[in-house]
Amino acid sequence: VKRIGILTSGGDSPGMNAAIRAVTRVGLNSGLEVFGIYNGYKGMVEGYIEPLTRETVGDIVNRGGTILGSARLPEFKDIEVRKKAIAQLKKRGIEAVVVIGGDGSYRGALSLTEMGINCIGLPGTIDNDITCTDYTIGFQTALETVVECVDKLRDTSNSHHRCSIVEVMGNRCGDLALWSGIACGAEIVVTSDTGFDEQDVLDRLRDIDIIKKKKHSIVVISEKITDVDQFAKKVSLNTGFSGRATVLGHIQRGGSPCPFDRLLASQMGEKAVDLLMQGIGGQCISIRDNKIISYPIEEALSMPQESRKPLMNLFDRLV
Ligand code: ATP
Repeated sequence: VKRIGILTSGGDSPGMNAAIRAVTRVGLNSGLEVFGIYNGYKGMVEGYIEPLTRETVGDIVNRGGTILGSARLPEFKDIEVRKKAIAQLKKRGIEAVVVIGGDGSYRGALSLTEMGINCIGLPGTIDNDITCTDYTIGFQTALETVVECVDKLRDTSNSHHRCSIVEVMGNRCGDLALWSGIACGAEIVVTSDTGFDEQDVLDRLRDIDIIKKKKHSIVVISEKITDVDQFAKKVSLNTGFSGRATVLGHIQRGGSPCPFDRLLASQMGEKAVDLLMQGIGGQCISIRDNKIISYPIEEALSMPQESRKPLMNLFDRLV
């Protein structure tokens, strides 16, 4: 392998730039030429591809977002569209590609590998919803942002006998909610794993007010579970707290990556280049029990999520 490409795809996440830098620097230092493919698979099809140098990836290790831009291109599922993308790569002599993104991006990487372009996937998403890895690049930074925001909400909730209902991201994965719920000392966490029994949550909030006599309460809830504004109104009507909903939204995706994410991205980038240099494709990189390893993408996509029961039990024992 002489020339490799790199792209970021799907939702952006803090640490993607550190991964781009690592792939580029490790690649160049190993004698490869490295090309940036802009705007995900869209730029691959359109031929928006430029060489990357040591300098182009300078000064980005600390920056959120992705200097390569990201996009979604649903048409990439169409083989004819992928053939166009491959023609663009071949024209430039690019034989292999590192794809940073979520599970959709992994599917694209697998299809390209099956068509002769070796691809390696890196898990770039704040959602931590790629089951084969303990952590995705961006999760820890997003967690820090959530904790910082909820800490601030706690101050004002406390002064006004409020119940703060905070909706956090995570797609269908409850990790961001559960981890932040523990770190922030929330009273209640609702995720797809815990399920949402509205009446039960209202009853528990009444107990927190009347029996525990707490001045405020915090409910952290994963996105895509319920309408938090409507639920806040019910809290005001049915409990002694005044309910206020906050949807943290895209704030969670931005910001300078924390050291953990920068390190994870750098280690994963290194591993991706090493695999491509050995002529290996169709794999994705994971961290498992503190080791950087790889799995076949096909196997990774069908892996069940590890149980979150121990952390859920811990949460229950802390309230
Ligand atoms: P996030 O977790 O942030 O949503 P993602 O990578 O899962 O990231 P998707 O929009 O699902 O985001 O996928 C990103 C892109 O990957 C799609 O826009 C599409 O171009 C490509 N892609 C998704 N699924 C496939 C597939 N089955 N075959 C080929 N390409 C795909």
